[in-house]
Amino acid sequence: MLRTLFGLTMTHMRQSQLFTKTRREAPQGEVSKNAQLLIRAGFVHKEMAGVYSYLPLGLRVLNKIIGVIREEMNAIGGQELLLTTLQDPEVWKKSGRWSDEVNDTWFKTHLHSGEQFHSGSELGLANTHEEPLTALMRNHISSYKDLPKYAYQFQTKFRNELRAKSGIMRSREFIMKDLYSFSRDEEGFREFYERAAEAYLKVFKRAGLGEHTYRTFASGGSFSKFSDEFQTVCGAGEDTIYINEGRRLAINKEVYNDQTLSELGLRKEDLREERAIEVGNIFPLGTKYSAALGLTYKNEAGEEVPVVMGSYGIGPGRLLGTVVEVLSDEKGMVWPEEVAPFSIHLVQLGEDEDVKKEAEEIYRSLVEARVEVLFDDRTMRAGEKFADSDLIGIPLRVVVSQKTLAEGKCECVERASGTTHHRSLSELMSHLTT
Ligand code: ATP
Ligand code: MG
Repeated sequence: MLRTLFGLTMTHMRQSQLFTKTRREAPQGEVSKNAQLLIRAGFVHKEMAGVYSYLPLGLRVLNKIIGVIREEMNAIGGQELLLTTLQDPEVWKKSGRWSDEVNDTWFKTHLHSGEQFHSGSELGLANTHEEPLTALMRNHISSYKDLPKYAYQFQTKFRNELRAKSGIMRSREFIMKDLYSFSRDEEGFREFYERAAEAYLKVFKRAGLGEHTYRTFASGGSFSKFSDEFQTVCGAGEDTIYINEGRRLAINKEVYNDQTLSELGLRKEDLREERAIEVGNIFPLGTKYSAALGLTYKNEAGEEVPVVMGSYGIGPGRLLGTVVEVLSDEKGMVWPEEVAPFSIHLVQLGEDEDVKKEAEEIYRSLVEARVEVLFDDRTMRAGEKFADSDLIGIPLRVVVSQKTLAEGKCECVERASGTTHHRSLSELMSHLTT
């Protein structure tokens, strides 16, 4: 259960110091369950429709999700970089994607002209990053010896989404993990593509969505018949998929027809229709962008040929929202251990000196053992504390009260199952560290 956090994230916190407050009601007009719960629990703040800020607890979860994805991308050879969100239209004009007719989700702006704001040349706010990265890679790839290479980032994307009714699952500004593969040929590309698909399944499993998530055939682009989506079954999803449980795969409705079914060896009667959320997406790009932007390499025969590319996206925010949609119950959120804001919610009930002393003692032991703990040391009624604790959804609640003191054991309640154990401090510590 003990995990080392990357970066400088704190392992522990007193709830009396946390600036965010929980609230009973979600803001008016917020229709999605994920945003309602996240806002009520103080994880996110809604700036405007489709635009959300992350507050301390929400950011902890987001960072954990990012950490999981980063580990899995590094494991398949990904190298992390950070491209800019301000983008030069020139590279987009070369691929033909600058036009609003081709891409209707652009946010565009203008440079200062000297005389007037915003009347200078046009700029794009990152919609995606194929074009700038492909152009950049020309400086680094020139020979077959330079390939393959895999580059990825966690970077803000801006998309002028027409509808924004799915809370943080479809926002107009969001962080995306986007990886791009650069291979010599189709064979090298396919080999990596399959490894990436495996890595994606690991990410979703670690985020607690493994059994709900299916690799799904979706439409490909000009270079491939299919792309693959990772779809998590959920009534609030915007997509419709057809699942073959035995083969643990699905087909997106957009490619669901007799011809595709027979090509994939699937029969209608073995498929189950479900609503689902696209949590990730991997896509063969062929030589579309390398040819347009001149990313070529010299092969072993000395010929100049375009690099074969693929793109691999996951929205950490959408994944976070999906965890909320799928795993919450009527009392609030339920975080799987790997992505939970904290591992333990230590709840002190009452203000008696001996209870306070015992709670402080347990807090100190957990902090020393580097267990991630949120300590509810606030002066509040038990009912309110439990309601907050259920809403926030930390995997294990440890309660210290007059009653538990009398027993010499604290009450440990698993958020997901409600299972309760009574453990002494030393029993708790050995349970946590095994
Ligand atoms: P969708 O089909 O849902 O519009 P997309 O196919 O345009 O998404 P990509 O461009 O492939 O998505 O983005 C990769 C991943 O980024 C998606 O699988 C999803 O997890 C996430 N994502 C895409 N759009 C959004 C958004 N508006 N808000 C949050 N996450 C998003
Ligand atoms: Mg899609």
